[in-house]
Amino acid sequence: MSKPDSSPVSLVWLRNDLRLEDNPALVAGIEAAGDHGAVVVVYVLEEPDAAEYPLPFQSASQEENSEEARQSVPNSNAPRPLGGASRWWLHHSLTALASSLRAIGGELVLRRGNAASVIPELAHEVNATGVYWNRRYTNARAVDGVIKSRLRTSGIDAHSFQANLLHEPWTVSTGSGTPFRVFTPYWRACLSRPLPRAPLPAPERITTPLTAVASDDLSSWNLLPQNPDWASGLRETWQPGEQAALTRLSAFLEVGLASYHRRDEPSEAVNSMLSPHLRFGEISPFQVWHAVDSARRTELSGQSLDNAAKFLSEIGWREFNASILFYMPYLRDQNVRPEFDAFPWKETDPHQLKAWQTGQTGVPLVDAGMRELWHTGIMHNRVRMVAASFLIKNLLVDWRIGEAWFWDTLVDADEASNPGNWQWVAGSGVDAAPYFRVFNPETQAKKFDPEAHYIQRWVPEFEGDAAGKRAPGAETLFGGSYPAPIVDLRETRVAALAAYDEMRAVG
Ligand code: FAD
Repeated sequence: MSKPDSSPVSLVWLRNDLRLEDNPALVAGIEAAGDHGAVVVVYVLEEPDAAEYPLPFQSASQEENSEEARQSVPNSNAPRPLGGASRWWLHHSLTALASSLRAIGGELVLRRGNAASVIPELAHEVNATGVYWNRRYTNARAVDGVIKSRLRTSGIDAHSFQANLLHEPWTVSTGSGTPFRVFTPYWRACLSRPLPRAPLPAPERITTPLTAVASDDLSSWNLLPQNPDWASGLRETWQPGEQAALTRLSAFLEVGLASYHRRDEPSEAVNSMLSPHLRFGEISPFQVWHAVDSARRTELSGQSLDNAAKFLSEIGWREFNASILFYMPYLRDQNVRPEFDAFPWKETDPHQLKAWQTGQTGVPLVDAGMRELWHTGIMHNRVRMVAASFLIKNLLVDWRIGEAWFWDTLVDADEASNPGNWQWVAGSGVDAAPYFRVFNPETQAKKFDPEAHYIQRWVPEFEGDAAGKRAPGAETLFGGSYPAPIVDLRETRVAALAAYDEMRAVG
């Protein structure tokens, strides 16, 4: 339905909140437009001019800013360009969103460029009386500050909302008012806060302006891979979009949650697989929280109650990482623990790196994970830890190189959780695993994939047991197609610990 051009217009800017349900900015924009107004919903493919964004962050705490060893600013405040798998996801997520909006009378407008210019220009173009968005907590929030002041200077209201985190970073702090650096007390503090608000229903109708607003053609953004089209495994595995996210949540509540105590076993399909849906905001943490919380109040008992608490604490890790990035904008570029700046990484051997990326290291659990990642855009959490530890510790490759590969290949690649977890494995992050904890892929496989179901799914040419012991003659049988390990796990573990000692000696 369309309204005359003289009516008030709300501009709703969607980012990592590609959903209609539980979308406070969308609801507020529709309410502000009222019965006689119109709503323009826009998504901007951000291609920023980094020079436009202010440094440093006013919102970072005094303590973090004054850490002398750290530069308190990241290399750039520009939104991080999406990796290949994320671009694929975005294309399909926007397609799904456009169709949901159309079903209630709306239109999705697509624009590309520097949001700091695009949003104010579009606001003027459509005569917006107010601009609405849900807050983000990444370095790109600097962009939002610029836009807010530009809009207000030209007399346009700008309103932002909490939608994508249960607890905004500045609402959770230690007794002395500083950000938490350890997860357990952080999550305890979150749980002692008022319950997260109930999710908002999806709007039933949207009214668009009488004159159609120009939009890019999604295909012109070239988000999908071509020549070669490497996305067939992604298509087999995923259905991006809000409806699919809700279906995943229901399936998890019905089947996965009761068995979530087996979450570390990669061949068991008990994990929720919600991470890319959460990453793109096709579902909100409020929806997830309330669905699980209401199940535990009404349906669950015994072990399932523990499972629900454990699952919600994983949602807590997502929040914790977001909070870390908020206070440490350099998270992706620099070690959180400055002593790691002296770590003697080996010069990267391109053959070894390629073997890791392509799942050809000869270490079955690592290869299974890396092949799963390449094919599906996801990797089981336990295997991510093992594969990351192998790169960082057995190959002595700087964690930033692994982080960049995951950024490009994961459909859930997240600006906070990806570097946060890589630094966790490296031992250089907050509340990190101690560096000397070197995951042994053989022991991990024996414990979490004892029948080698997961390994055999992804490394079918491997003939051996879960611990990586080859059947006699297996290599000859397969014509040597599965490589021998590229490094000796025991020797490289010793070398990793020696490198750690060398770093400590420098400190
Ligand atoms: P579930 O077990 O069902 O957990 C539910 C939700 O909790 C997840 O969807 C996710 O949003 C959150 N969550 C669970 N574990 C973590 C964690 N350790 N850190 C942060 N959030 C968590 N997760 C990402 O979302 N994006 C990333 O870029 C990312 N990179 C990672 C890199 C490494 C090296 C490692 C070790 C972990 C990484 N993780 C990342 C965390 C974790 O592996 C995934 O969130 C999880 O595997 C997603 O599967 P799921 O949705 O089935 O998880």
